[in-house]
Amino acid sequence: MLKRILVANRGEIAARILRACREMNIETVAIFSEADRGSLFTTLATRAVCVGGARSSESYLNQDAVITAALGTGCDGLHPGFGFLSENAGFAARVRDAGLTFIGPKPEVIALLGNKDAARALMRKAGVPVVPGSDGLVASAEQAARWAERIGYPVLVKAANGGGGRGMRRVDGAEDLARAFDEASAEALACFGDGSVYLERLIESPRHIEFQILADTHGTCLHLGERDCSVQRNHQKLLEEAPAAALSSELRGRMAQAALNAARSAGYTNAGTVEFIVDAGRAGAGAAGAAAAAGAADRKPAATDDGFYFIEMNTRIQVEHPVTEMVTGVNIVREQIRIASGLPLQLAQEDVHIQGHAIECRINAEDPEEDFRPCPGTIGHLHLPNGFGVRVDTVIHPGYEVGPFYDSMIAKVIVHGRTRNEAILRMRRALEETLVTGIPTTIGMHYLLMYDPDFLNNHIDTGFIERKLSALLGGVRGLTPDQGALP
Ligand code: ADP
Ligand code: ADP
Ligand code: MG
Repeated sequence: MLKRILVANRGEIAARILRACREMNIETVAIFSEADRGSLFTTLATRAVCVGGARSSESYLNQDAVITAALGTGCDGLHPGFGFLSENAGFAARVRDAGLTFIGPKPEVIALLGNKDAARALMRKAGVPVVPGSDGLVASAEQAARWAERIGYPVLVKAANGGGGRGMRRVDGAEDLARAFDEASAEALACFGDGSVYLERLIESPRHIEFQILADTHGTCLHLGERDCSVQRNHQKLLEEAPAAALSSELRGRMAQAALNAARSAGYTNAGTVEFIVDAGRAGAGAAGAAAAAGAADRKPAATDDGFYFIEMNTRIQVEHPVTEMVTGVNIVREQIRIASGLPLQLAQEDVHIQGHAIECRINAEDPEEDFRPCPGTIGHLHLPNGFGVRVDTVIHPGYEVGPFYDSMIAKVIVHGRTRNEAILRMRRALEETLVTGIPTTIGMHYLLMYDPDFLNNHIDTGFIERKLSALLGGVRGLTPDQGALP
């Protein structure tokens, strides 16, 4: 078993990992930037080391400083968390070459799956359904236009090395393609240092459903069920649930097999997530979604009959992993550390039982009234919810400063209930207890979502927030006690 782990991250996910290590009697080293000096997560570690300035490039992304800190403190393992260096294959290789254990898959596997175009090719070969799209990268706007004709509009131009919903452009017709191609390439180059893009057919109003994988180094590869992450803005998740209540057990079973097939064909080890989009109508999409899908079906035949499509595999712990932990009872971070230590998984697929329903709301320091603009500032009063079936992952406190340097997510509120309805009732009361003053947050929007009739009936898709936002925000004054009756 690993003896001393450096946690190469910050905030709530650093705290999450440090707590798992503490329970496993593993020593820890936290790293922090000058902006995070004294932050709660640093106090949860055996010791903490400053690795540089507030800017990520000077600290959390500074590979030399991070590796030097790990070696200098006698660590034998490194957990990258999510974001930052977590999906950087070059960094994972440097960690390995320095004689440390990287808690994640092999660098070669990160590289393969990090390139979405290469991952698509691998999945096609393995028989995993992928979204119809270009065979390989698209080098010019002219080439993109030829592919788009074959695929059929609307299409998405996507960054091969993208993440966080960036480097993606919707195109509805040939006249807009050249500009979208240029914009997506430029954004990809600026965000990821690589401007290469490919094309996918845009699936109208789909659900985003993903499977949590655990694979050890002894040949066991299993899944912990799925999450529905269809509540998104700008292609980024806002709320996640487990299980995906809209899936038939038949479709769930086929998707689980495809997810396992995807992980096995990549030689995957450790925890990872296989992301799919599911056709509207196949998984109880909203009325608008179903209508859009019906319209699309009139225009062109479905490329496959599967009803779901692989979009990417994330080679790290995921923001929304707690909903899976709540319904399976499996501590995913603990399993990551055990797998990286070379230990076999102690559970088999038949030991995984999904119990009840869990929902996570991402509390972001953002203004939903201004297109979710990040809003740095200082937290005044703070009260966090607790009680039966409630989990809060955060490091904030009264007086906490939300800086402009990092991601705007400041807390995750997660609830567990026996049914989806019970989880919704619990989330309502948890959010009623939650108080954050001094900065705008997404709390109010989440609360209103818990009363939205379409959400309550599970008629959601990835376009849901965009369609609903103004009505949701306006609803704050119109909410009456008889509203929000559960189905
Ligand atoms: P997940 O795929 O785990 O649900 P998201 O899709 O929300 O997470 O984001 C993808 C990844 O990008 C996550 O690892 C998240 O931490 C990271 N990320 C998103 N925005 C930022 C940011 N502004 N700074 C650093 N990391 C970010
Ligand atoms: P990222 O790496 O930024 O997470 P993904 O490929 O996972 O990129 O896509 C992010 C989101 O964008 C998905 O959850 C989905 O909402 C949307 N999306 C991606 N590809 C498609 C597609 N072909 N059709 C419709 N929506 C898509
Ligand atoms: Mg994704």
